[in-house]
Amino acid sequence: MSMSMATSNHTLFLHNPTNLTNTTNLFPITTTRTATTTFKPISIKCTATTRTQAPPQASTQSQDRVFNFAAGPATLPENVLLKAQSELYNWRGSGMSVMEMSHRGKEFLSIIQKAESDLRTLLNIPSEYSVLFLQGGATTQFAAIPLNLCTPQDTVDYVVTGSWSDKAFKEAQKYCKPKVIWSGKSEKYTKIPSFSGLNQSTDARYLHICANETIHGVEFKDYPTPKNGVLVADMSSNFCSKPVDVSRFGLIYAGAQKNVGPSGVTIVIIRKDLIGNAQGLTPVMLDYKIHDENNSLYNTPPCYGIYMCGLVFEDLVEQGGLKEVEKKNKKKAEILYNAIDDSKGFFRCPVDKSVRSLMNVPFTLEKAELEVEFIKEAAKEKMVQLKGHRSVGGMRASIYNAMPLAGVEKLVAFMKDFQARHA
Ligand code: PMP
Repeated sequence: MSMSMATSNHTLFLHNPTNLTNTTNLFPITTTRTATTTFKPISIKCTATTRTQAPPQASTQSQDRVFNFAAGPATLPENVLLKAQSELYNWRGSGMSVMEMSHRGKEFLSIIQKAESDLRTLLNIPSEYSVLFLQGGATTQFAAIPLNLCTPQDTVDYVVTGSWSDKAFKEAQKYCKPKVIWSGKSEKYTKIPSFSGLNQSTDARYLHICANETIHGVEFKDYPTPKNGVLVADMSSNFCSKPVDVSRFGLIYAGAQKNVGPSGVTIVIIRKDLIGNAQGLTPVMLDYKIHDENNSLYNTPPCYGIYMCGLVFEDLVEQGGLKEVEKKNKKKAEILYNAIDDSKGFFRCPVDKSVRSLMNVPFTLEKAELEVEFIKEAAKEKMVQLKGHRSVGGMRASIYNAMPLAGVEKLVAFMKDFQARHA
């Protein structure tokens, strides 16, 4: 028996979202609902007409979207959002949204397995590494890493290149004996140290780095080799932005909400022999062994977020993999840094040129009093979230994988125009 039909073009029955007329629904409902449903139809008078046109083409920036330069949560690929939209109500004929699925059902298992498999393809992850989809953000990993990789008496080394590695170091102090072997604080976190000058501890269980400092915009272009133990990297803000030789690391971790999905998913890639030595007081949710043995399904995982990450991974594979993605990222960063460097000091990026981030571009205005105006005018032009982090001020343009070249070109054109009017 069919469900109630709207009596007017301007009336939506919320219990029957098919009336929202997504004419491009790729996976139409295959199950029939009985009429025993008890919820009452709620009618809403709408002035807008129901959308009947096809969703905008993924290759162009849709009219009603902005260029979002936020540091995270950040912009996602339009085609991924549109695919998620088309699958939201009824995932591939299952009769359910991914949000409604059992995390142990065959549908979700296929989603998480495909996500892992595509991520393995992208980063060429060796078989002796496990991939875990966790919760709690990268901040939770600041504690989980020392809890899993060392005893309270163990020494570990931290390279502090910005606020995030500093936070990681401070959290580790609760669980082991971390040492800051280099800090860029006195130079306002504008540098990455030379590896030969690093005074590594001979007995360190691991060497921790933040591969890309989201706030300060410094990025490791190569990685140090630990004297002892393994290399551990926070890749939250440059994860999947370029190829990485995973075999050089004991553990890589990243929050998803910059390059690969929504917030709520944290990815850990860990060499299997490092699993299984958690300190006794480690909460079960922070024990890698528990998550590894249960294929990230020990408890209810962030199912929808993992699904979204899976769509992003699929998209990155379709783009030709991370080599291709890196080329695009280099091009975007190059035109933005060139605009800053060619502005005769009107705009300035404080970061050492050799270690400038391809993802987060901080810059200041020579006339600092114009910064508020710059951000306001940019927003009017649909370029948003350009304000620098509250701890450093100035501006910051985050240009992750999903920021189209057109977005950076528009920003650069705006910067030139702004300079012409205010120099
Ligand atoms: N590390 C880096 C490099 C980050 O950019 C962030 C978030 N901006 C974090 C750690 C903390 O991540 P979360 O908010 O997911 O805990």
